[in-house]
Amino acid sequence: MLRVFNTMTREKEDFHPITEGIVNMYVCGPTVYNYIHIGNARSAIAFDTIRRYFEYTGYKVNYVSNFTDVDDKIIKAAKAEGISEKELSTRFEKAFHEDTAPLNIKDATVRPLATDHIQDIIEFVKDLVAKGFAYESAGDVYFRARKFPNYGHLAHQSLDDLETGASDRIDDGELARKEDPVDFAVWKGADPEIAITWDSPWGPGRPGWHIECSVMATKYLGNTIDIHGGGQDLAFPHHTNEIAQSEAHTGQTFANYWLHNGFVTVGDDNEKMSKSLGNFVTVHDIIKEVDPQVLRLMMATTQYRRPIAYTHTALQDAENILKRLETAYRNLEFRIKSGMEVNDVELDQAVETHKMAFIEAMDDDFNVANAMSAIADFATVLNVTAEATQVSAPSAQVALQEFAAMLKVLGVEVAPTEVESDASIDELIAERDAAKATKNYQRADEIREQLRTSGIVVEDTAAGTRWHRE
Ligand SMILES: [Zn+2]
Repeated sequence: MLRVFNTMTREKEDFHPITEGIVNMYVCGPTVYNYIHIGNARSAIAFDTIRRYFEYTGYKVNYVSNFTDVDDKIIKAAKAEGISEKELSTRFEKAFHEDTAPLNIKDATVRPLATDHIQDIIEFVKDLVAKGFAYESAGDVYFRARKFPNYGHLAHQSLDDLETGASDRIDDGELARKEDPVDFAVWKGADPEIAITWDSPWGPGRPGWHIECSVMATKYLGNTIDIHGGGQDLAFPHHTNEIAQSEAHTGQTFANYWLHNGFVTVGDDNEKMSKSLGNFVTVHDIIKEVDPQVLRLMMATTQYRRPIAYTHTALQDAENILKRLETAYRNLEFRIKSGMEVNDVELDQAVETHKMAFIEAMDDDFNVANAMSAIADFATVLNVTAEATQVSAPSAQVALQEFAAMLKVLGVEVAPTEVESDASIDELIAERDAAKATKNYQRADEIREQLRTSGIVVEDTAAGTRWHRE
C-alpha cells in the first residue's frame, strides 16, 4: 500500500485515488520569464518521478502543470527588452521544453497557459463575488480570507500571524483598497504603466497569480483532485489561496493530498539559491557541461521532501553510480548472447525479491534512497550472473527488463544496445585478446589506450571482450 506524506495533515497517509486506477495530479509550473533554474528542475523532477512510479504500478496519470505567462516578473522582463509579454513568455515556454526533455521529464498531459483562460478566470471570480467571498475595490477584486474557514491551515498559519505579516508586505495603496490586510487579489485593475489588460466586469485588468491554478486545476481535473504538488515555498500564500478560492467556488475539497518538494542549495555552503546571492543556476547552462542523465539521477535519488545540495561532489557521485548501473546492464546483456535457453529459478527469485524491495521503498512516501539500495543490490545480481559459468538467457532477459523499468522510474533510460559493428575495431579487439592470451600485456594496454583515445571503451567480461562508444 502506497503511503504519502500529506502537508495538510502533517502525516503519512494511505493513498486512495478517487477513481480506481487513475491519478489526477496538478503541479504548479514555472513563471516563464527566464530559463528555469535548478529549483524549478528539482520540482519538475520530483513530481515526474512520482508520476512515473504511479505509471510503473499500473495507474493512468493525468498530469496537469501550468505555465504562468502573465505576471509582474514577465511584464518587467518584457519591458526591459522592449518586446511584448507574449513574445517573452513564448520564448521561455519553448526553452522549458528544450531544457527539460534531456532530463527525461515527461511532458504534462495538459500544459495550460493562464492567458488562454482569462474568460474562465473572469467567470470564476464573478462566482466568488456572487457568493460573497470576493469584492471589488477600485478596479481590483479581493478575496475575503477571513470568510473562508480554516484559512492558512495548510501552512499551519493563524490569521492573526498572517495579519501582522501582511501589513508589512504590501504597499499602502493596496492596503487602503482592502477591507482587511489578509485579503488577497484575485483580479488586478489596470495600471497605466502596464499595457497588458483584458476587459472584465470590474474594468480592464489582469488576473492575480493564485487564481489561475484554481481555475485550470478544476477545469482539467474536476472539483476534487487526488494530488496537488509544488515547491514547499508555495504552501503559503499560493496553495493556501488556491484552496480558499477553489473550495469557496465548488464547496468541495480541492485536493486530497498535498505534496511539497524540498529546496535546492547550491555549493558546499548550503546557501539557499537566490539571484541576489549570485548562485542562480539555470538548467540551460548546467546541461552544456553536465550530462543531463547525471543531473537527473542526482536529483531523482534524493527523496522529494528532502533538501538537495547541488555540489560538484554530488554530481560526481551520481556519475559514478550511473556508470556502475549501466555497466551492470551492458555486461549481462552481452553475456546473454552465449546463454542457455532454460530458466534459472534462483535468478527469477532474486529478480522478484529486488522488485519487491524497490516497491516497498517507493511505497513509503517515494523513498528513493532505499529504492536505490534495492537497485544497487540488483546490479550486483546482474554482475554475478554475467560472470557465472552458465547463464539462463530467458531469466537474464527478464532481469534486465525489470532493472531497466526501475531505472526508468528515476528517469534514467537504459535501452537494449543496438548492435554496432565496426570491422576495424573488432580487429583491434581480436588482436588485444590474442596479446592477452600470450601474456603480452604491454601490447594489450596499448590497444586499449588507442581505442580509448578514439572514444571506444573496452570492457573485459566473463563472456569475452565487449566494446562500446563512450
Ligand atoms: Zn499554482
